Amino acid sequence: MSFVMACQQSGIGVHGDTLAYTSEKVRRFKYRAPDEKFITLVRTFFRSRRMPSAHRTAIYTHPDCTRHEMGHWHPESPARLQAIEDQLIASRLADFFERCEAPEAALAQISRVHTDSAIALLRDHIPTSGYYPLDEDTLLNPHSWRAALRAAGAAVAATDAVIAGKYQNAFCSVRPPGHHATPNTPMGFCLLNNVAIAARHALEVHGLQRVAVIDFDVHHGNGTQAAFKVEPRVLMASFFQHPFYPYSGAEPASSGQAKNVNLPVPAYSGGDVVRQLITEHWLPALHAHAPEMIFISAGFDAHREDDMGQMRLVEADYAWITQQIMQIAQRYAKGRIVSCLEGGYNLSALSRSVVAHLKVLAELD
Ligand SMILES: [Zn+2]
Repeated sequence: MSFVMACQQSGIGVHGDTLAYTSEKVRRFKYRAPDEKFITLVRTFFRSRRMPSAHRTAIYTHPDCTRHEMGHWHPESPARLQAIEDQLIASRLADFFERCEAPEAALAQISRVHTDSAIALLRDHIPTSGYYPLDEDTLLNPHSWRAALRAAGAAVAATDAVIAGKYQNAFCSVRPPGHHATPNTPMGFCLLNNVAIAARHALEVHGLQRVAVIDFDVHHGNGTQAAFKVEPRVLMASFFQHPFYPYSGAEPASSGQAKNVNLPVPAYSGGDVVRQLITEHWLPALHAHAPEMIFISAGFDAHREDDMGQMRLVEADYAWITQQIMQIAQRYAKGRIVSCLEGGYNLSALSRSVVAHLKVLAELD
């Protein structure tokens, strides 16, 4: 980023000789308190200078992800992705991320998690118009299969890029979400389990020996847990409102091979409860597992303004959780994180929370 761009980002008009303007500001800085605009300018400029030639954090998405929709009444709507884009622009942070177009996932990649019958259920029931209901709140429209392929493909491509060292981490701003989709059954707004497909890719293609999947959606990630129920290389750490949809996760793991740290929390719990549980349960398990890469099922419907759940998190809680994950990643995983959007249905709370999450990932705070 040039100095002129930094000025523009700070809302300071640049007139005439930029360097003269700057030196004048610096001179004044020595003698009296600088104004807010100048502080912002300096911060923005040095923040931009600190970045390496490539951006630290990539955002993967695709227009197909907004073409899947399940009716105007449905909370899992294309407006969610637009709200995130709008908030990034409003926060003047859009330029700090590398934008990547999500490819379609290959069938071989999806098949590492989903059965042939589950894939056929989606692919072969795409309507030419209108909707095909998979359950009472999960529907297919003519674009759903392509959107699902892009969402899973984003997670896989982000995994490749982060492992290759192209980016330190990545956020997949995609839909449909994935963490309720089991190997056998799409459900709960989810068609393909994007995070599980990416984690499998990291294990089977890149040969990683240990990965972690961290799920902070207000709902239990039953699909992800099912995908790794006999996979000791994957540690799944989650908290979720309980009892609540999909009414799973609170029971002890059925398999001795599964590594789950499930933290069911009662409705109306706030960030203080969640932070203590994470400190006492997630972090020791993550240190013991020493993951070589971390995947995040990033749902933001535990926010206090989100009516889908009854929890009380705020943006600062999502930033704190992301910081904890970053510290684990930096210690064991060369900083490698791929985060995928799951829930979050209050558009304002969702977009503010995603930006709080992204600011930590990109070290912009
Ligand atoms: Zn959710």
